[in-house]
Amino acid sequence: MGLDATKEALCQKAWDGGRVSADEAASLYELPLPQLGALADRRRRLAKADDYDGRGNDIATYIVDRNINYTNVCNVYCKFCAFWRTEKQDDSYVITHDEIDQKIEETIALGGTQILMQGGHHPKLGKQWYLDLLSHIRDRFPQINVHGFSPSEFIHFCDVFDEPLEPLIRDFRDAGLGSIPGGGGEILVDAVRQSISPLKAMSDDWLEVMAVAHRLGMASTATMMFGHVETLGQRIEHLERVRRQQDETGGFTAFIAWTFQAENTRLKAQEAGASEYLRMQALSRIYLDNIPNIQSSWVTQGLEVGQIALRYGANDIGSIMIEENVVSEAGTTFRMGVADMRRLIEGLGYEARQRDNWYRLVDDQAAAA
Ligand code: SF4
Repeated sequence: MGLDATKEALCQKAWDGGRVSADEAASLYELPLPQLGALADRRRRLAKADDYDGRGNDIATYIVDRNINYTNVCNVYCKFCAFWRTEKQDDSYVITHDEIDQKIEETIALGGTQILMQGGHHPKLGKQWYLDLLSHIRDRFPQINVHGFSPSEFIHFCDVFDEPLEPLIRDFRDAGLGSIPGGGGEILVDAVRQSISPLKAMSDDWLEVMAVAHRLGMASTATMMFGHVETLGQRIEHLERVRRQQDETGGFTAFIAWTFQAENTRLKAQEAGASEYLRMQALSRIYLDNIPNIQSSWVTQGLEVGQIALRYGANDIGSIMIEENVVSEAGTTFRMGVADMRRLIEGLGYEARQRDNWYRLVDDQAAAA
């Protein structure tokens, strides 16, 4: 079945690199999947053409890092989360410096360059605990980037420490925080957040943390967790808010979308499958014309889908994820090593290259050192 003239014109606009509106995005979402994927692949090519000395479209990247959840104590009780514990539960924990040293040493032994450090919203840990942890890591492992503390954690810190956001983020940065992950983005529409995580930072708060971080010169990522209670219109509203923020402050290095995993959680919802995931990722590449990198999510979708997502707008396959407690508690336990990751990338005809948090190629830096 052919497309009508309006849709043909829209596809041409997307192919040519034009900015699409929310209504146009909803229309693109209805395209046959291979066609939407081809448009996203084209947009990836436009976005990456000048990178890596003009080789941006020959290369797909990955990062070696470790997810460290510094505590599982949390008083936010998100319905989609199976990770949180109360302080009184036997298996609650707060990480020690010795434990974190061991995890970072293992990460470095595997060629890692970064830790992704996030945790529950602990009601009692004080500011100095976090600053001590950061400066300990910086002093002991100066080569490791700490990509840590999601916006909802920072909003929680403002409440617990009774401090404004900007000096707080500055103090964390000065103690060793390198960049901020987009965790807790979920869907940046308050009606959705009220439904799935009513005690967590709302949309404006999440975006404000990112705006402040970007103004302080810190890079961050934007994320989306979808496939639960939200509508397509709300997903597109999420993309719109991320795009607008990026127009204003420009610090998002990458966008990462993944699907809700239901097992062991209290949220009853139909999980999104592979084709819906690919469709949404492709649309994200087209819509987010000001974010250079789209990362696929093999952790929730499995290795094959994570691989094929590189033909649906993604240019990066993410991390080997030495540890991922939140998703694995919810029943998703895909594992991948560096060799697997390189094989998946090369299987699609790309050159596999390790990158750091800022998407610089790691071996290029080593050669330049
Ligand atoms: S997702 Fe994060 S904030 Fe929500 S309950 Fe789990 S640990 Fe707490």
